[in-house]
Amino acid sequence: TMFSLEDFLNLTDENKERFKELILDHIDENEDIRKGVSTELLEESLKSIKNLKCSIDSEELSIYWDQYEIAIGATGNIQLTIPLYEINFLLTDKARKNLYQLDIEENNAHKMVKQQSREQLDPNGKYVALTFDDGPHSTVTPKILNIVKEYQVQATFFMLGNQAEYDPELVHRVASEGHEIGNHSQTHIDLSMADEFRIHEELNTTNERIKEIVKYNPSLIRPPYGAYNDLLINQAKQLNQPIIMWSVDSLDWQSRDPVAINQEIMNQVTNGSIILMHDIHEETAEALPEVITNLKAEGYDFVIVTELLNWLEAEDIGPHFG
Ligand code: ZN
Repeated sequence: TMFSLEDFLNLTDENKERFKELILDHIDENEDIRKGVSTELLEESLKSIKNLKCSIDSEELSIYWDQYEIAIGATGNIQLTIPLYEINFLLTDKARKNLYQLDIEENNAHKMVKQQSREQLDPNGKYVALTFDDGPHSTVTPKILNIVKEYQVQATFFMLGNQAEYDPELVHRVASEGHEIGNHSQTHIDLSMADEFRIHEELNTTNERIKEIVKYNPSLIRPPYGAYNDLLINQAKQLNQPIIMWSVDSLDWQSRDPVAINQEIMNQVTNGSIILMHDIHEETAEALPEVITNLKAEGYDFVIVTELLNWLEAEDIGPHFG
């Protein structure tokens, strides 16, 4: 579709400058375009950013120049493509709504299916959510899946995009056994130290990798190290993926000891707790049967994080962004 750029992009003076730099960078990276372009004509064309001819979809923005418009004739018509996540900062609310609509609807549809398929939670019940970060891991994650299956417990797995890419079958198994999948970034960087391009790339790539395998987006985001800032919060809101921290840290990564893991959890746990563990340590898998047994003995039932949040929300605590 051809349209006026201002329908989709917030063209403040500052944004115009950044957008212009982005276009110049992309032309610079594209040898075929760069070699034919006249710097003068390009500069002239970029003076009125809002008159550029563009098309946009949920993946990318394309800019078109006619033959002779900015380059020598031999170059012909020019099409420059910029991934959408790079211009995320420019998008108007309306554009975001339209462009991301599909993903959001699919995501919500998935959540609804899950909730309907499970019995209503008891307002006076005791619930906790077990969460596992940094996987899927080729040996530990299957052990954990076997244990939670044996004890008929659902859990939430915050996966790294890189790990998901490495072992797609395992991602598929996690989803098909009814567990929830969250986004833990692509490369486990501290997102609070990253710029918005990098944040978007980390979140988006991971969403895409997981969606390729399970056909829906992860429902939640847990930032590595629990580190977040306003940039991350904004992007999470746009993606309709709540940022989820934890309230009980098993310190499994530190103790690497099943007894200590159990003690840590049982000392801290309370109704509505979100318990942090990692499905990359053998000791975590070793501790798990006793963790589940102990929690069950204290009357806790196990739910996925989204269910826990809905339940907390119904109890007037939440929703939890950060
Ligand atoms: Zn982590």
